[in-house]
Amino acid sequence: MSGIRLVILGKQGAGKGTQAERLAQHFDVARVSTGDMFRAGVRTGSELGQRAVEYMDHGDLVPDEVVVEMVRERLAMADVVERGFLLEGFPRNVAQAEALDRLAQPGIDLVLSLEVPTETVLLRLAGRRVCIDCGTNYNLDHPRADDWECDACGGKVVARDDDTTAAIGRRLALYENQTAPLIAWYLATDRLAAVDGVGTTDAVTTRLLRAIESRVGLARDRQ
Ligand code: AMP
Repeated sequence: MSGIRLVILGKQGAGKGTQAERLAQHFDVARVSTGDMFRAGVRTGSELGQRAVEYMDHGDLVPDEVVVEMVRERLAMADVVERGFLLEGFPRNVAQAEALDRLAQPGIDLVLSLEVPTETVLLRLAGRRVCIDCGTNYNLDHPRADDWECDACGGKVVARDDDTTAAIGRRLALYENQTAPLIAWYLATDRLAAVDGVGTTDAVTTRLLRAIESRVGLARDRQ
């Protein structure tokens, strides 16, 4: 399946980052994570990073116009245009979803909703660590304790600045109020596949691949 255009939705800690990495490799598409783009901007001290950091640290959403402009520029780049994309962390509200429909011509093939209960994501977020250089995610049940080097790049692995109890609560509330309504929005336009996100990483990847191959394959066969 070439040039596929996907979106993955899910609460913080649902496993979107891990699964997006795997799916992007599988379909050889560009993984576009707005959270990773903002974190990279904060690390390098770019103007974008400076605009975003305060919102991020409080668990608030960065204003739509800033995010939409960043996504617009990314989706216009050659790798995305040629190979397709997997968007993660965007859209997060209906205004962003409407903007995406204008930007991603000829449209999104499928929106995956990774479904995980809130109790489970709270446990996962408490143990989440991330490489400050390449963004690889780890969990505290990883063999090494808190301060370790990233297996992928040797960078320092730390807790995310926004994985505090207050910011996590704020982000989960924002997900329920602003992002969860997108599920009905995409369902109404027949672009949604809900996938159970509880289980081993491999089991969840298998479910996602099945959902994509059946839904997108069928749609393309009909064209
Ligand atoms: P994430 O890694 O997706 O959890 O994103 C981390 C933080 O970046 C969020 O808590 C927001 O502050 C910001 N962010 C990422 N994507 C978006 C978006 N689509 N709209 C607004 N803010 C975003």
